[in-house]
Amino acid sequence: MNSSINKIINAINNAKNILIIPHINPDGDCIGSAIAMKLFIEKEYNKYVTLFIQSKVPEVYKFLPKAEDFKIENDICNQIFDLVIAVDCAAYDRLTNAITFFDKAEETIVFDHHKTNKGYGKYNYILPELSSTGEVLYYFAKNSKWQIDKEIAEALYTAILTDTGGFKFENTKTKTFKAVAELLRYDINPSEIYKQCYESKPLEMLKLRALAINKSKILYNGKVIYTIITLDDMRNAKALNEHTDGIVELLRQVDTVDLAFLIKETEDGYSKVSFRSENVDVTQIASKFNGGGHTKAAGCTIKKNYTIALNKILEEIEYVYEFSK
Ligand code: 5GP
Ligand code: MN
Repeated sequence: MNSSINKIINAINNAKNILIIPHINPDGDCIGSAIAMKLFIEKEYNKYVTLFIQSKVPEVYKFLPKAEDFKIENDICNQIFDLVIAVDCAAYDRLTNAITFFDKAEETIVFDHHKTNKGYGKYNYILPELSSTGEVLYYFAKNSKWQIDKEIAEALYTAILTDTGGFKFENTKTKTFKAVAELLRYDINPSEIYKQCYESKPLEMLKLRALAINKSKILYNGKVIYTIITLDDMRNAKALNEHTDGIVELLRQVDTVDLAFLIKETEDGYSKVSFRSENVDVTQIASKFNGGGHTKAAGCTIKKNYTIALNKILEEIEYVYEFSK
C-alpha cells in the first residue's frame, strides 16, 4: 500500500542525514532516478544527500550530472543515515551490501515501479503502471511542486529513455510522453543523450554480444532462445560486468522467439538470469527462484552453477511450451 505524499515529504523534511540506494547492477533508470532524487532534495530542502553504489557507476552513465558523487560502502561505513531512500529496487535483498544502512535508518522510503515490489519500506511509493522509476519520480515531484532544472531533467529523461528501451517497449504510455515532453523544456539534448546511452559502446561489448549470439540455443520450434555467458567468456572478451546489458533484448529480436533468457555466471559461481517474453508473464518464472520484475522483463539469481540453473529453468518452462514440442 502506498504512503501519502505528505508523510513522505515529512520524512524528507525531518531527516538530517539522507542516503539514496540503487539496486545491484544498476541500470539507467536506477542511476538516473537516484541522481534526480538527490538533486531534488538538495534543492528543495537545502540539505546534502549521499548517493550509494554497490561497486561502480557503469561507464555508459558517467555522462550524467553527479555521476562522480556515488560512494561505496567503505567511504561511508562510519556514517549513520536517519533516512534511507531506495530507488528502482524491486526487493529488499536487491539492496545487497546497503542493507545495513537501510536497517539502521529510522525512516525508509521506497520509490519504485516493479509490480513484484512488496513495499519493504516504512513509506512506499510504488506505481507499477508507470514505465520507470524516473517517471514515478517525475509525477511525485510534480504533485509535490518540486522544481525541475536542467540537470534533473537530464537524469529523469535518461531514466525514462532507458527503461522504455528508447520509448519502444509497451510500458511507454501517454503519461510517459507527457512527462518527457515537459522534461524537454529544460534545454536538454535528447539526441546527445541517446548517443551516450546507445551509440557509445566499447568494442569489447559488441564482441561479447557476437559471442552470446553464436552460443545461443533454440528450443520448442524457435519459441525459446537462451544463451550462457561464463566468467571465462567475460575474461576472453575482456568485457566488464555491465557489458552483458542488452544481450537478452537482442535474442528476443529473433522472429520466432517468444521467450528469451540469458544465464550469466557470477563471480561466486552462481547464475544471474534475465528473462524477456512477449506472451508469458516472466515474473512467474523468476519468482520461482526468488526473483521478480515486470511481466515482460524479469530476473533472478539462482544459487547454483549455470548447468544446474539451466536445467531448473528448463523444467519450469517445460509446462508452458510443452504443446509446441
Ligand atoms: P534484468 O534482467 O535486466 O537484470 O532485469 C529485468 C527486470 O527484472 C528489472 O526490472 C529488474 O529490476 C528485475 N530483476 C532482475 N533481477 C531481479 C532479482 O533478482 N530480483 C527481483 N526482485 N527483481 C529482479
Ligand atoms: Mn526501472
